Amino acid sequence: MNDPLLVERLNASGAIFGQEIVEEMSPLMSIVVYWILPVVLFIGIGQLMSKKLMNKGGGNRMMFGMGNSNAKVYVQSSEGIHFADVAGEDEAKENLAEIVDYLHNPGKYREIGASMPKGVLLVGPPGTGKTMLAKAVAGEANVPFFSMSGSEFVEMFVGMGASKVRDLFRQAKEKAPCIVFIDEIDAIGKKRDGQMGGNDEREQTLNQLLTEMDGFEGNTGVIILAATNRPESLDPALTRPGRFDQRVPVELPDLKGREDILKVHARKIKVADDVDFHQIARMASGASGAELANIVNEAALRAVRSGRPFANQSDLEESIEVVIAGYQKKNAILTDQEKWTVAYHEIGHALVAACQTQSAPVQKITIIPRTSGALGYTMQVEEGNKYLMTKEEIENKIATYTGGRAAEEVVFNTSSTGASNDIEQATKLARSMITRYGMSKDFDMVAMETTTNQYLGGDTSLTCSMETQTEIDRQVVALVRRQHQKAVQILTDHLDKLHALSKYLYEKETITGEEFMEILNG
Ligand code: ADP
Repeated sequence: MNDPLLVERLNASGAIFGQEIVEEMSPLMSIVVYWILPVVLFIGIGQLMSKKLMNKGGGNRMMFGMGNSNAKVYVQSSEGIHFADVAGEDEAKENLAEIVDYLHNPGKYREIGASMPKGVLLVGPPGTGKTMLAKAVAGEANVPFFSMSGSEFVEMFVGMGASKVRDLFRQAKEKAPCIVFIDEIDAIGKKRDGQMGGNDEREQTLNQLLTEMDGFEGNTGVIILAATNRPESLDPALTRPGRFDQRVPVELPDLKGREDILKVHARKIKVADDVDFHQIARMASGASGAELANIVNEAALRAVRSGRPFANQSDLEESIEVVIAGYQKKNAILTDQEKWTVAYHEIGHALVAACQTQSAPVQKITIIPRTSGALGYTMQVEEGNKYLMTKEEIENKIATYTGGRAAEEVVFNTSSTGASNDIEQATKLARSMITRYGMSKDFDMVAMETTTNQYLGGDTSLTCSMETQTEIDRQVVALVRRQHQKAVQILTDHLDKLHALSKYLYEKETITGEEFMEILNG
C-alpha cells in the first residue's frame, strides 16, 4: 500500500504493528537463474541439434539422414542377372563386355597404362533393357552394384542432392571395384541454362557429380553407368571426355531381337510346343523389350482365365492385340448400320493396301470393338526388318490410311467419325515427308522441322517462317487429297470385291490375311 504517512498515523493512534520480510533470491542466485541458465541451456540444445544435423565422422550426412544417398546396393549372388538374360541388344553387350573384362582383371589394363572410361551412358527408348544391361554388367563381373535414380537426388533443400552424391561416391569407393548405376540421369544432368532463378538444387547436384567424377582416377575400379532416354537434353559438361564419354545405344529390338526376347520371357511361363515365336515377333513390330515381356505375361494370364494349363499361339496373338488396342469390349453394342460401316471401313483399308505394290501384307482384320475405343482394325505385318521407306511406300501408306473413309464414301456416300485416327496418322506422315524427309519438289532438301525428342515420341518443332508454314500446310492437304483420291479410285475399280469382303467380315467379325486374299483372288 503506497501510503508514506501510514507509519506516522499508526504511531499516533497507538496501534501495535510489525513488518514481515518476504525472503527473496540472493542477487547471485538471480544472476544464475535469469542470465547464466538460459545461455547454458541454449548452447546445450544447440550442440545436441548440431550433433544430429552433422555427420559424426566427416560432416557428410545432413539433417536427420536426408543427405544419405539411400542407394540400393545389390551385391551379386549366383542368381544375379547375366548377359544371357538380356536378349537381342548384341552391340550394346559387346560394348559393355570390355568393362566386364576390365573389372575381372584390371591388371592387364593397368600394365599398358590404359584407363577405362569412367562413365558409360546407355541411351535408348524406355523399356529396351538399359537397367537390365547395367545389372548384367555387375552380374557378369561379380561386383557390387549401386543403383539410384536421378530424381532421387533432387531434394527439397539446396545442397541435399549434392550431399547424396558425395555419400554415394564415398560408399562406392569403399566397395570398389563396383558399378554405380544412375537411372534417368537427365533428372539431374539437364543443361544448365544460366538464367536467373534456375534450379539451384539440381545444378548443385550436377556440379557435385561432375566434381566427384573428376575426383577419382580412372583406375580405382568404380565404373559409372547411367541411362537416359533424352540424351540431347544432357549438359555438355557431363558428356565430355573424362566423364560420360562412352555412349552405348540401346535401341528397340529388330525382328530377331524381338523373337529372342519373347523366347527368354516364355521360359518363365508354360507355353505350347508349337508356338511360332517368329510369327509373334513379326506381329509385334516396334515393341520394346518391356512390352514383349508384358505380352508374354498377358498370354499366361489369358491361359489361366480360359482354364488351360499352358499358353498357346492364340493367347500370344491376342495379347499383342490387347497391348496394341486394349481388351475386347464384349458388351459394346453397335447398331446394324454401324457394324456395316465398320466392316466396309476396315475392308477399305485392307483392299487399298492389297491393291498397291510395296504394302505390308494384311495379317488380320477384325470388327470387334476394343477398350481403346477402336471399333475395328486391320493389322498389316512386314515380312522382315524395315529400316528405310521410299517415297512411294509412304504415299501408299497414306492411301491405305484414307482407304477406310474412302470405302464409306464410295458405298454409303457419306462419312463418319470413325476415321479420326487415320486422319491423324496420314497427316503426320504427309507432314514428315515435306518437312523432314525432303520429299517435296518445292522445298527440296531443306529441313523445316527438327526432332526434339528422338526416343520419346519424336516431338518436332518447326524451324521456318510463317509464310513457309502456310505453304507446308497447303502442300500437306494436296498430298493427302491425292492419296485419298487414289484410294477412292482403287475401291471403285474393285467395288464387287469390296462388297463381297465386307459381307464376309460382317458375318465372321474377324478374318485372317489368308481368308482375305482367297476372296480377293476369287
Ligand atoms: P529401361 O531401363 O531401358 O527402361 P528395363 O531394363 O527396366 O528398361 O526393362 C524393363 C523390363 O523389360 C525388364 O525387366 C525385362 O523384363 C524387359 N526387357 C527389356 N529389354 C529386354 C531384353 N533385351 N531382353 C529381355 N528382357 C527385356
